[in-house]
Order: sequence, then C-alpha cells, then structure tokens
Amino acid sequence: MTDRPIPAPTPTPETETFWQGMRDGKFLIRRCIGCGRTHWYPRALCPFCFGETEWIAASGAGVIYSFSVMRRAPEPYAIAYVTLAEGPTMLTNLVGCDFDALRIGQDVRLSPTPTKDGAGKDGPPVPTFTPGY
Ligand SMILES: [Zn+2]
Repeated sequence: MTDRPIPAPTPTPETETFWQGMRDGKFLIRRCIGCGRTHWYPRALCPFCFGETEWIAASGAGVIYSFSVMRRAPEPYAIAYVTLAEGPTMLTNLVGCDFDALRIGQDVRLSPTPTKDGAGKDGPPVPTFTPGY
C-alpha cells in the first residue's frame, strides 16, 4: 500500500524538540509539572492551569475518537482524532489500513509516516497511526 507523501513540517521553537524526537524514534508530548495533565500539541505553558510543562515519552497507543475518509482525493486518506493512552486527543492520519474496517473506539498505535521537504530532503516523520497494538 502506498501512503500519500506528506510534506515536511516546519518546526517552531515550541515543537523543535518534538520533531527531533520523531527523528530519533521517540513520540514526545508535554505534561504539566503543576497539575499533571498532558496536552497536545506541545505548548510551553499548560492550557489548563498555565503551569510549566515538561516533555514525556508517550507510549504511542491510542483509540480512534472520530475519523473521516477522504475518498475523493487522488489517493484516498483517512483523517482522525486519536485519543492517546496518556490523555490528550490529537488530529492525525490513519495509515496502512483498510479504511472500510475503521471504527470509532478502535485501538491504534503510532506508525510514523516519512516526510520530504520542498527540496526532496527527508523531513522528520509525522505521527500517524495504524489499527492494532
Ligand atoms: Zn497544568
């Protein structure tokens, strides 16, 4: 199965460590030092209590919260909200799967997708998910 090529993300100061983690095979999310809650996307301050946050390695396990299959695209793809085992819900793509077999509540796991920048160089892999553990 060929997955759609994804353009390389542009890291910002807040997400640079995240993207370096993806290059190193780590899936990093932010957790609040004050209230202990995790969030997505990575932010320096907690969106719940404005406390300071730290990086933690997420397990890569999640559950499909909702999804939509884009069948009219030249190559169909699935976008989804996935709720991570650590708590936050993120917008992502589901890859390497039969789109007709997807369902809400299904277990998924991290399956990063490679990226290319405009010059054809490798960008950091983006966090996408595939069904199963
Ligand atoms: Zn907090």
